[in-house]
Amino acid sequence: MIPSVLPTYNRAPLEFVKGEGSWLFEADGRRFLDLGSGIAVNALGHAHPKLVEVLTHQAQNLWHVSNLYKIPQQENLADLLVEHTFADTVFFTNSGTEACELAVKMARKYFFEKDQPERVEIITFDGSFHGRSSAGIAAVGTEKMVKGFGPLLPGFVHLTFGDMDGLTNAISDKTAAVLIEPVQGEGGIRPVPDAELKALRQICDDAGILLILDEVQCGVGRTGKLFAHEWAGITPDIMMVAKGIGGGFPLGAVLATEEAASGMTAGTHGSTYGGNPLGCAVGCAVVEEVMTPGFLEDVNRRAGLLRQKLEGLIAAHPDVFEELRGSGLMLGLKCKALNMDVVQAGYDNAVITVPAADNVIRLLPPLTLSEEDIGEAITRLDKAATAIEQG
Ligand SMILES: *Cc1c(COP(=O)(O)O)cnc(C)c1O
Repeated sequence: MIPSVLPTYNRAPLEFVKGEGSWLFEADGRRFLDLGSGIAVNALGHAHPKLVEVLTHQAQNLWHVSNLYKIPQQENLADLLVEHTFADTVFFTNSGTEACELAVKMARKYFFEKDQPERVEIITFDGSFHGRSSAGIAAVGTEKMVKGFGPLLPGFVHLTFGDMDGLTNAISDKTAAVLIEPVQGEGGIRPVPDAELKALRQICDDAGILLILDEVQCGVGRTGKLFAHEWAGITPDIMMVAKGIGGGFPLGAVLATEEAASGMTAGTHGSTYGGNPLGCAVGCAVVEEVMTPGFLEDVNRRAGLLRQKLEGLIAAHPDVFEELRGSGLMLGLKCKALNMDVVQAGYDNAVITVPAADNVIRLLPPLTLSEEDIGEAITRLDKAATAIEQG
């Protein structure tokens, strides 16, 4: 008999009932170190006092009004994002997938309004992930994502990750945009090198097409900058954000330059929930916290410490781990053992990691992970690796 919850997930038999900082409490009383943050969502950890206060205060006043009216919390968050990024304007969604939908629509509408309606194609790369909607799965195009769900949304061109020559050849008078994650998350923490991002920006400029960055997973302080592309010193035309920005409240956003957004006039897009007062009040608190002077410096300092200790862990368990990837607190351990076995051994030792493609386990801890927590992380991962070695 089908379960009451549609069985699209293979769930671990873990039931968390409370969270505090980097820790999760299982119903049976066990305390787990959370190096997954609900897949890079709980950027400030669990039950962060400031977020609890802001959410409670907003909940006592006003949850929802719809976008038919002015929403000051939404304006505040948009102002904050505009102040701290390349963007001139922001649309709020409830998820990364919805951000993908708008990014695709915005790019196509831009060229439609520029009298180039044939420019509809969006170039993407293998190993990427852009969500589970019809546009999101068509953007990725792998059999795993799309099989059985056709007909697919047309207009996506798929290239090999890192194939810059292929990119130049693939751009035609039908191309609207390139869509890429600066650091692939689901794909196994595969960063696009800074030089390649710079080249990508140049190629898009030369071809007169838009650059869409998907920072749903790597954004909001995850790599040690507010947004990952800042490391490369470039800016996109359109950017998708979600996950960390709500700190656990479902919230996403599309950020854009005035030029790229110029086709999106009143009535061209909408969302019932997107940008509601509750979500945006929390989102403001998250972004304010991440932009507090010293916060990101401290993330980078602790990330450096974690990385150094993880290198030691790899050296101590060469049959379990192969290499460390990523930046800031968006880290991947490429495994020699089966990554799912390592994740399971982590569960057995009360530490949570997240599997990814390419036989990688992801470490996406709260950005607030303390030095003490880092020590615990290494101790527990070391026990997990030892358990695997002992078979
Ligand atoms: C998670 C993710 C998405 C989809 O976000 P949802 O909130 O699950 O819809 C899109 N792009 C990237 C890079 C992601 O990691």
